Amino acid sequence: MIMRAVDLIRTKRDAGENSREEIEFLVARYTRGEIPDYQMAAWLMAAVIRGLGRGEISALMEAMLHSGEVLDLSEIAGKKVDKHSTGGVGDKTSFILAPIVAAGGLTVPMISGRGLGHTGGTLDKLEAIPGFRVGLSLAEFRRVLGECGMGLIGQTAEIAPADKKIYALRDATCTVENIGLICASIMSKKMAEGIDALVLDVKTGSGAFMQKEEDAVELAEVMVETAQRMGKKAVALITDMQQPLGRMAGHSNEIIECVEVLRGGGPKDLRELSVELAAWMFYLGERSVSVDEGRKLAGEMIASGKALEKFRRGIALQGGDARVVDDASLLPGARGRMEVRSATSGYVRDMNCMQFGIALAMLGGGRGKKEDEIDHGVGLEFHKRIGERVAAGEALVTIHYNSESKLAESKEIIFGSFEIGDKAPAARPLIRRIIGG
Ligand code: URA
Repeated sequence: MIMRAVDLIRTKRDAGENSREEIEFLVARYTRGEIPDYQMAAWLMAAVIRGLGRGEISALMEAMLHSGEVLDLSEIAGKKVDKHSTGGVGDKTSFILAPIVAAGGLTVPMISGRGLGHTGGTLDKLEAIPGFRVGLSLAEFRRVLGECGMGLIGQTAEIAPADKKIYALRDATCTVENIGLICASIMSKKMAEGIDALVLDVKTGSGAFMQKEEDAVELAEVMVETAQRMGKKAVALITDMQQPLGRMAGHSNEIIECVEVLRGGGPKDLRELSVELAAWMFYLGERSVSVDEGRKLAGEMIASGKALEKFRRGIALQGGDARVVDDASLLPGARGRMEVRSATSGYVRDMNCMQFGIALAMLGGGRGKKEDEIDHGVGLEFHKRIGERVAAGEALVTIHYNSESKLAESKEIIFGSFEIGDKAPAARPLIRRIIGG
């Protein structure tokens, strides 16, 4: 029987189920450029609205995985472990835990993505570092991993090419927030990496794709099951994204904040989450006998300076200017600063964290269309966390901007994203649940 993209789209539009063969056809033809963006976008939108069943999710993940190569890293001794986050605002732990875990003796072959929806992307952030190449060939990636134990690249024509194309399309067509599409996107990259174990950071809250905790738990369960079915050890931490992680958002800003943590400082929430994720990586990678031992090892890698040195080495090996670690002025910056101040006194009761991501994108830190360039120098600096006291006129956020014309709207959005009230809210745990541990 002849298969046609329109018939697959109709089935999904009308809440039907696409077969494994249909999904393989869609992914393979789209990756080869034989199905156009507009048909894939229509199918993605139908999938977001109608949802995907478990059979469809596994067919999609496997079709995307096998659109490229699956790495065999057996020539590199020891365990290979990775982490992936579902994304948020100020979510930058990769640049902290990859050096920690590599310094601790495991190999971290990390394949990441660009900014998606309102969230920042690992690849875009790395490109704030002058010269840094996220598009290594497979041979270069293997060499870097062999030499320093960590490598951070994007999907390529060789690894997860289907995700590379579909990811960029989802970003520009508002088709991100779906458990099946997120699972297939993340797991097709991660299962191509040749890893032994995977730690997942599944965000929940107003700055996450899964705003409700029960949806985050379902996504975590589907991803952990997928990894285990593929013979990998996996755990998922459900973590809070009701407010930004750390104090900084924006590309250069986030690299600077990661260096602070690798020097033993930085904001408490970012430090704690990075150490926790690294600890699970050490444990699943059999480098520590328990998560607690893993925490100690992560702490030692920071305190000894070994993790920071590993970060320098990893940057240099990927063509980047490692001097940024010691001289932040080498990173792209912002020409202007403006404070958003509180109109009233009270407690910060809540935040609409997604709006911060949108405001940052509007300053130039995100894409409206696939072709848009990122301004790595713009950013947001958060002065208050949920539960903290604020006085009238006190700064809530400092905007780092390069264009006056983009400022007014961003300022408005940020101002409207804080809820200030008389009563302190209940404390929010950063790590909410652990799935599969
Ligand atoms: N991260 C990914 O790699 N893909 C998604 O769909 C969401 C977050």
